[in-house]
Amino acid sequence: MRDFQRSKVYKWEHKFFGFHDKTLNTAKIFDFMAMAYKITRQYNCDPVIVEENYRWKKTLGKANAFKITLRANHLKMYIFLHEMAHVINKQKLGLADDAHGENFMVIYNDLTTRYMDMDKDELRQTQKIADVRFNYYLPFELNDTRLSAAINTTTR
Ligand SMILES: [Zn+2]
Repeated sequence: MRDFQRSKVYKWEHKFFGFHDKTLNTAKIFDFMAMAYKITRQYNCDPVIVEENYRWKKTLGKANAFKITLRANHLKMYIFLHEMAHVINKQKLGLADDAHGENFMVIYNDLTTRYMDMDKDELRQTQKIADVRFNYYLPFELNDTRLSAAINTTTR
């Protein structure tokens, strides 16, 4: 796999979310499990396991198509959403799609806009400056209408 802009993405997010993110050590793994459930429903994906690793010293997070591992005592929202973007990218577009490419970035930007209240224009502007390439539109449909309809339906 080429993974042509991995280091650029790392550099950009470290700078960008290092400034914005205040959730270090305040988020709980159970919060991320619940969010993962909600997000996989919203994106029409299969469920994903979220677990912690207590041995890692350098790695912050890893993901395959069905499991996210986060470094214990270093639970940050943007890292969780980064790994979540890998899960969605792999499930929707397959393993051959570039790991930190344009499709990954449009999913990542969509997630941080929805779940961290990030400004999409600010994300894109800073990514352009950091020479990180991204797509503008998700290459698949979301489940928003079906999910909200289901939530708003009361069974008596
Ligand atoms: Zn990554």
